[in-house]
Amino acid sequence: MPSLLIDQPVADQVVLANQPIEVSGSATDQSPMSVNLVTVQIDAGPPVKAQLMPSSPFRNRTIVDFSATILPSGIGRHVITVTATGTRGFKATQTVIISANIVVFPPCYPEQNAATNLSSGANQSFTNWPQNIQFNAPEYYTPKTLSELAYAVLQAEALGHHVRAFGSSWSFSDVLCATDSSTVPPTLIPQQPGAMIATSQLQASLQQELQQVLAPGVDATFLIHVQAGITITALNSLLDNLPVRQTLNSGGGSGQTLAGVISTSTHGGDSLVPPLADFVCAIHMVGAGGIEHWIEPDQGITDPAKLRVVYPCLASNGSIHYDTQLFRAALVAAGSMGVIYSMVLKTVPQFGLVQHRAVTTWEALQGPDPSLTSVLDGSFLSSAYGLVNLLDGTPLPASLGPFAGNRFSQIVINPYALESNDATLNGTPLKLYVGQHLCFVTNRVPVPIPIGASNPGGGDISSLDVTKVGQAARDSLGSNVLDYDIRFLNFLNSLTPNEDLSTKAALLVDFLAQNFDERTISAVITYVLRQIMPVGERLDVSYKLSDVLSWGAAIRSLSVEAMFSVPDAVAFVPQVFALVESYAARSPKNYIAGYLSLRFVGQKTTALLGTQRWSPTCCVEYAMLSGSDGAAEFVNDLQKLALGSHGALHWGQCNEVMTAVDVQNIYGFDTIEAFRQARGILSKNATLATFDNSFTDRLGLSAEGSIIIEELDLVGVTSDGNIWHTIRHTDGIWLGFGDVKGQAGNKGAFTAVAAASVAGELQLIGVTSDGNIWHTIRHADGSWSGFGDVKGQAGNRGAFTAVAAAGIAGELQLIGVTNDGNVWHTIRHADGSWLRFGDVKGQAGNKGAFTAVAAAGVAGELQLIGVTSDGNIWHTIRHADGIWLGFGDVKGQAGNKGAFTAVAAASVAGELQLIGVTNDGNVWHTIRHADGSWVGFGDVKGQAGNKGTFTAVTAVGIAVELQLIGVTNDGNVWHTIRHADGSWVGFGDVKGQAGSKGTFTAVGAASTPPH
Ligand SMILES: Cc1cc2nc3c(=O)[nH]c(=O)nc-3n(C[C@H](O)[C@H](O)[C@H](O)COP(=O)(O)OP(=O)(O)OC[C@H]3O[C@@H](n4cnc5c(N)ncnc54)[C@H](O)[C@@H]3O)c2cc1C
Repeated sequence: MPSLLIDQPVADQVVLANQPIEVSGSATDQSPMSVNLVTVQIDAGPPVKAQLMPSSPFRNRTIVDFSATILPSGIGRHVITVTATGTRGFKATQTVIISANIVVFPPCYPEQNAATNLSSGANQSFTNWPQNIQFNAPEYYTPKTLSELAYAVLQAEALGHHVRAFGSSWSFSDVLCATDSSTVPPTLIPQQPGAMIATSQLQASLQQELQQVLAPGVDATFLIHVQAGITITALNSLLDNLPVRQTLNSGGGSGQTLAGVISTSTHGGDSLVPPLADFVCAIHMVGAGGIEHWIEPDQGITDPAKLRVVYPCLASNGSIHYDTQLFRAALVAAGSMGVIYSMVLKTVPQFGLVQHRAVTTWEALQGPDPSLTSVLDGSFLSSAYGLVNLLDGTPLPASLGPFAGNRFSQIVINPYALESNDATLNGTPLKLYVGQHLCFVTNRVPVPIPIGASNPGGGDISSLDVTKVGQAARDSLGSNVLDYDIRFLNFLNSLTPNEDLSTKAALLVDFLAQNFDERTISAVITYVLRQIMPVGERLDVSYKLSDVLSWGAAIRSLSVEAMFSVPDAVAFVPQVFALVESYAARSPKNYIAGYLSLRFVGQKTTALLGTQRWSPTCCVEYAMLSGSDGAAEFVNDLQKLALGSHGALHWGQCNEVMTAVDVQNIYGFDTIEAFRQARGILSKNATLATFDNSFTDRLGLSAEGSIIIEELDLVGVTSDGNIWHTIRHTDGIWLGFGDVKGQAGNKGAFTAVAAASVAGELQLIGVTSDGNIWHTIRHADGSWSGFGDVKGQAGNRGAFTAVAAAGIAGELQLIGVTNDGNVWHTIRHADGSWLRFGDVKGQAGNKGAFTAVAAAGVAGELQLIGVTSDGNIWHTIRHADGIWLGFGDVKGQAGNKGAFTAVAAASVAGELQLIGVTNDGNVWHTIRHADGSWVGFGDVKGQAGNKGTFTAVTAVGIAVELQLIGVTNDGNVWHTIRHADGSWVGFGDVKGQAGSKGTFTAVGAASTPPH
């Protein structure tokens, strides 16, 4: 009787669909019998005869190895059946089940069966929570693990889809929609939907993993690491139940997920601190191409070596970024950078809050205090507490805690004025405020954690009864008016039981608009606000008071929100009143049932696209019932009004009107460029459009078409006369140093070097110890041209000692210094021909004996900086017409830091950046602005760290950042970046990354596109 063993494939193995796979193993029978036939069958397909390879007999058994090739067609599970037949006709059968997929899953993932475990569906319906967006997603994934998430992204990409993650889907805009096409005009509901990834199963605490990845000395007590699909409610509860009770330092909402909140710059009313995004320390995401990214600011909290151990895919095909600019871009990215798997957040010790709330009118509040400081500092409410509740004339209850130290400020306004003929005002102090807009002012002040909560909060809007709401409108009309009673009764009778609460509410609003004046809608809104915002005192644990107002799932709502400086917000509010009025003045009338809410975020965010752009920022929201006449149109008009009033629209609220131009105006060109660069970095240099959607297309935030971020090419000379080349890729990884002389030929011992990018290729110029100059090109494919003799082409001006180069308009501009202190300029044209060397001092003036030079192409012109033997630095420009400006004294403009010996120059964002080395080994940085003014020299070592005595330096601008490389007198090479915001990265050891080739003495740098 034969027996069988299948070696390949193993059970549950994931293989590529529609690609042949080998099935192999061995079949055994008792000697002298043998197995003489093995067939392999996949699913119900025809049996395939396997090739048999007898192996040596073993004791009394004969063993044959078999192998056959089969084709798993289509994705999904496949059953492979192997049958062995012995010489006497006895058979043995074994089966193995495999899973065929369309992507190769990187081997670094611990769960190779992620594909089979991943919950997915095709053509599945998606509806957002507010129910204003609904579509069928061609692919819909619900990953439970990092492996499944990575697989979902890879699979969606392989199927040709763009991808969007969603959390609680509380957003109102197409920020939330995956869209496959960039050519179809953006619409709120996607015309070509892409793949949606639900994060509802990613809610776990990863605190144990955090302990394993932290850098030495980092205290984890007030750090929390969680999967990013956790809701704020669940996160708050998790934190409150830790051994040391903790909470988030900035609130807002609760049903939203952590990633959703951060990604859209969601805020609360924390008037002392920035929004929650600013408490994030690290982001772990799966980006385009299924590539994992771990992103932190320059000064990170983790140890990269430990991260690579705990998350092996970060080591094999992912990236760890300690990059403040990238981090700030990735914080508020509206789902466009990738799917956030987890985040590390800073927390604070748990505390209690006492809530004070009183009623006034907007006019009475901001008339005497236009900057609203009395709301922010708590003084308005502390004084209101001697008074009565304006709603009913009763005294306000005794306060439960202090007013000073307020950390939450909110003003909720009824956008309809108090009407003189509103009968519900009769007998209340509000009668005195007719013509003004009722508002509720809320403060929250930190107190010790209370043992128990005092006083309940209000109900949510969906708990309201339409009949009672209708009665409030009816009451505003006054009593004993038979006609009104009948019309209200008829209206209520016209509602059918099938209509949901939302529809009934919208019908009520339309009924009021069609039949009655504004006192009815004003009274209805006041009634609702009274129910959901009880006046008086509350005391509770911090997060239990974090909710602002809730519409509840049963009511379909719409909301427009924009962030302003306080003065702009105060000016915006009456414009909203006027817009509401204009809708009420229409024929037929439109009432917009909602309220205006002003909340204050105390500090400006650091997130590039964070909407909290002022300290403090006032967030003005109009939340309204959807479905009533005019509401949809009002939403658009209000967005236009906000944009026209210097507002930054909330990314996650209604946001259909904003354009790329608006975004540039609000955030500034440099910020948008920096954001798009970050998108480039996280999308394989803008080659993958996986996370582009209609929203990013409309707002000019798509990766596709964004700037190609070039790579840094560094060339260096060692004391043995060799030249070395390396590349720093955009992800910060360095290529090992390659031997340039081995590629371009050995022309002797090199002493100086320069590099420039011309037409996307690296051009290198080297000076040998005999005073000759040599030129070579590193082509896009990585091959090098043989060294050519520059003096043979451009003329022999003597023994060269220093050299500089810049690529301008597809040509190489080269400047050389000869040992007599003269400076020479030539151009290598695109056709390879050289201009004869021209005498720069003859054109720009003789400032002495030059010893060092640097060059950069700035705004299409050559800028040249030279150092003279007396330690001075000189600057000139060669205009596009070939005319040279007279040499200007840089020290006279940027300050005298001593005797300069070396210099570097780069063009960054259209301006010249200059770096000089003084003979004490210090490094200095200045900028020559486009208007010709110079910034005072700044101390680079003071910013990027003191690595010793610098002797040589080179620089290049990549996008809006300066990349600087310096050589110290011990032959080491150091790299730093100056970000667009002026901050510097600490010096990194280049030899530690690219290999030690000896003692470096000179360097040159350029940037070329990645190949
Ligand atoms: C009732 C209600 C109350 C609200 N209250 C407030 C408030 O007080 N303050 C305020 O500022 N806003 C508020 N909003 C707006 C809301 O906070 C934002 O729309 C928020 O983004 C919703 O979070 P979410 O988890 O539902 O995210 P979603 O709506 O699911 O997603 C929002 C964005 O985040 C992205 N995203 C989600 N998860 C991930 C992930 N894991 N990785 C990458 N990207 C992801 C999505 O692609 C999308 O671009 C409210 C909205 C509603 C409906």
